[in-house]
Amino acid sequence: MAHDFLQPLTGSFAQPAGENPTVAMIEAAFRHHGLNWRYLNCEVAPENLGDAVRGARAMGWKGFNCSIPHKVAVIAHLDGLGGSAEIIGAVNTIVRRGEKLIGENTDGKGFVRALSRVTDPKGKRVVLLGAGGAARAVAVELALAGVAHITVVNRSRERGETVAALINAKTPASADYAAWAETFRIPAGTGIVVNATSIGLYPDIEATPDIDYDTLSPDMVVADGIPNPPLTKFLKAAQARGCKTADGLGMLVGQGVIGLKYWTGLDVDAEVMRQALLDLGL
Ligand code: NDP
Repeated sequence: MAHDFLQPLTGSFAQPAGENPTVAMIEAAFRHHGLNWRYLNCEVAPENLGDAVRGARAMGWKGFNCSIPHKVAVIAHLDGLGGSAEIIGAVNTIVRRGEKLIGENTDGKGFVRALSRVTDPKGKRVVLLGAGGAARAVAVELALAGVAHITVVNRSRERGETVAALINAKTPASADYAAWAETFRIPAGTGIVVNATSIGLYPDIEATPDIDYDTLSPDMVVADGIPNPPLTKFLKAAQARGCKTADGLGMLVGQGVIGLKYWTGLDVDAEVMRQALLDLGL
């Protein structure tokens, strides 16, 4: 019987890397689909990023993820960027296309994929809480998916205004910035409310974004980027007011599904990946 002991390689470069559950999710998909591939979770310090990318190149890796703190710095080591990664200015998934390493950003795409199972974002008005890396990726992909308008609500004015200006300059959607100095009231006519801040992430699971929850109405869809715990206090409050919700685990799984499509060409089973994360206690 012929054997092939050369496994196609993928993986992740980050620091810290030890708490990143992506390896469990991706390898569950490899097993489920009978792919003899590997995903190697690597701790890479900033000063070693260039060597790590050159190593991946030399060893013929099919692609890899980059997480904190490499999402912007890795761009200098790549041969090109996908369309939305170029606008976002950050990369979380690198794909080998021929001899080239191309940077893509699947954070926002994964979010839109998960959200689209609950609502069609086209033409909707969005309130986006947060203006960090995740919020920026979510804003750009929502805009490219056809939302009409995004109100960026953020504590730091400068970051909030930067994301709103990016949407106005580089996408078909319009955007404005709203200050977050006091409890934020969701405007009537809002279709989608997104928490893209880090508020509510384990272990601060009691924390909630400072909005007036009585301004949520049942016709609004409420989404959270926080993957752990999946059912945040924010989403519980929204469900109690009759809103449909999309959780951050769906976003995490969604970006993995899209990354695996880039690397393997396959449409992998999202449920298998979600279950692998739930089995970890997420
Ligand atoms: P950043 O540090 O870049 O941004 C954090 C954001 O949260 C900023 O807008 C910050 O506001 C805001 N924020 C933090 N604390 C508070 C507070 N107490 N009150 C008001 N605003 C606050 O982080 P990222 O954007 O990279 O990540 C944000 C979250 O998104 C993470 O917790 C992560 O879990 C989640 N994420 C989920 C993914 C998934 O696949 N599910 C993928 C990527 C991220 P300010 O600008 O004023 O400081």
